Amino acid sequence: MTGTIVANKTKTWDPKEIQRDAKDTGKHESLYALPIASILGLAAGGIFYLYLNDPGLARIIWYATLILCGAPIVYKTVRKMVAGKYAVDIIATLAIVTAILMDESFAGVIIVLMQSSGEALEKYGLSRASIDLRKLLDSRPKLAHRKINSTIVDISAEDAQVGDLLLVKPGELIPVDGVIVSGESDTDDSSITGEARLVHRSTGESIMSGTVNVSYPVEMKATRTSKDSQYSRIVELVRKAQEDRAPIVRIADKYGIWLIPVTLILAFAGWLYTGNATTILAVFVVATPCPLILATPIALMGGLSKAAKKGIIVKGGSAVEQLGKAEIAIFDKTGTITTGEPQIDRIIPIGKYSSEELLRIAGSIEQLSTHPIAKRIASAAKEKLGALPLPEEFREYPGRGVTARVDGKEIAIGNYSFCREFLLSGRDEIIGELEGKAVMYSCIAVDHSLSGVIAFSDRLRPGVPDLIPYLRKQGIRDIMMLTGDNRNNAESISSRAGIKDYRHDLKPEDKLKIIEGEKKRGRTVLMVGDGINDAPALAMANVGIAMGARGADISAETAHVILTMDDVTKVGDAVHIGKRTLRIAIQSIAFGILMSVAFMIIAAAGYIVPSEGAVIQEAIDAVSIFNSMRASL
Ligand code: ADP
Ligand code: MG
Repeated sequence: MTGTIVANKTKTWDPKEIQRDAKDTGKHESLYALPIASILGLAAGGIFYLYLNDPGLARIIWYATLILCGAPIVYKTVRKMVAGKYAVDIIATLAIVTAILMDESFAGVIIVLMQSSGEALEKYGLSRASIDLRKLLDSRPKLAHRKINSTIVDISAEDAQVGDLLLVKPGELIPVDGVIVSGESDTDDSSITGEARLVHRSTGESIMSGTVNVSYPVEMKATRTSKDSQYSRIVELVRKAQEDRAPIVRIADKYGIWLIPVTLILAFAGWLYTGNATTILAVFVVATPCPLILATPIALMGGLSKAAKKGIIVKGGSAVEQLGKAEIAIFDKTGTITTGEPQIDRIIPIGKYSSEELLRIAGSIEQLSTHPIAKRIASAAKEKLGALPLPEEFREYPGRGVTARVDGKEIAIGNYSFCREFLLSGRDEIIGELEGKAVMYSCIAVDHSLSGVIAFSDRLRPGVPDLIPYLRKQGIRDIMMLTGDNRNNAESISSRAGIKDYRHDLKPEDKLKIIEGEKKRGRTVLMVGDGINDAPALAMANVGIAMGARGADISAETAHVILTMDDVTKVGDAVHIGKRTLRIAIQSIAFGILMSVAFMIIAAAGYIVPSEGAVIQEAIDAVSIFNSMRASL
């Protein structure tokens, strides 16, 4: 039997299919029918009332509009209530029904207009804020100039093969991922990183598909095909993110639900006080919490599109909200705090196998794992030894190690505690020595005896030491690092990162328990990770951030936020956007509630008639909504 798991799922990269999907999500049925019909009715009645001196007919028109356009709204709310969902739109429904009963058609139609246009705006905002897949696809690299001997042939970027020599002229998009083999230039990576700045790239450096070659012509060698390249990965990520975009949680419903009893009490009290039944309607009209309903999604969607511009893909408004609420940030170490590319420092043989033999055995097995260490071992082995045998009975223990059979030998590679489970002989002194030195290492056990150790140099990601104080400044006071690595290395890395709280030698389930424990204490947990073993932790956290489009696919799927670039400082941006967005949303809500309550009291005292109330409510609306729009700036 050959390798038993396939590490990477194959991806679909059919631009036509994605384009079709994108079109489907763009349609919104008869969203504008109700607002338009109510405006027309309102205007028609107004003409009769003001210019044709026929208030009787005007009232009939308004009344008909109120019944026709109000019915769907009432129906929808009642259906929701029957299903057990109580939302603040109950107040609007109450106002509409009361207006019908009291024959206050003008104020009623205004409520219908506010409520229906609010819903339309909510949907419109949602569709606007989703990153336009079609636009993303249209600006994908399409053309490549393939160099064969000394002639240039234009081909479609999708036809470029790994190893092809390609010429990229200034101003053109880099067609596929590759390495510059001759020349140097500057590239504009903003389509992928969201940051508009030029990066100088010279011979030997890698360049990503979808970025723009700005200055000089360069010759590159393709290292990936179009469908495996960075640009396609990002399109794919965005598509997935939009597929499982969670429905907006209405913050308004959470904070505003108590408005319903307050409204009822004030309306009743007002009626008793003035002795006039229209007071009830006046209170209802002023109470209609459109700004609450609208202001939040507008702010959340604004935050979402602002994040997208910076290369931060947030899967829905509730993820923005959770980012804003985060109180504790938990970082995984390998691939998150440290670079995803640990270098092999040395291979230390213990016993009969040479370091070359150990590399061959380890490389063979690690070909099938997606762990950053595994990738490094496999590529180093291939580079040095050429083709490697495929292992048999491969098994991965995420965050701990791997086991398999190579050339009939039973092999286990992983951290010390993992390997020990497979060992017959005791601890080797080299382990003690390595632990004292604070290095990351993996042990290799062959046929139950410790046969070697691979030591890595584990580098901090640039930007981490600045990120930590920045997060604290954002109000995330507790920051913790979790790792399956050994204690000394964990200590050394965390102190260089500026993280005081760290836990080491953890199994993936230990990480889950820690997150769960924090959640049980009532805290909102932000988890940042990368790699196949982080997927459960990312899903468990209130908000999980997956690093980099190159991270293992599985963690990107369970995460709530995905950074398109392998740049940990974006975590700071994500949190900043989340906090700011939430602050703006709450500001709008607080303003809306305060003003509504204030005017409700005035209305209850009999100083506001329903039609005036409708206009006042409209003004409160506008202020809240404009405030919320700041979130996207
Ligand atoms: P972290 O928790 O810091 O992200 P991991 O959980 O990814 O670290 O890995 C913890 C330790 O487990 C590593 O230091 C390494 O020794 C070992 N390990 C995990 N997976 C593998 C693998 N595929 N090959 C070798 N060692 C591994
Ligand atoms: Mg990890």
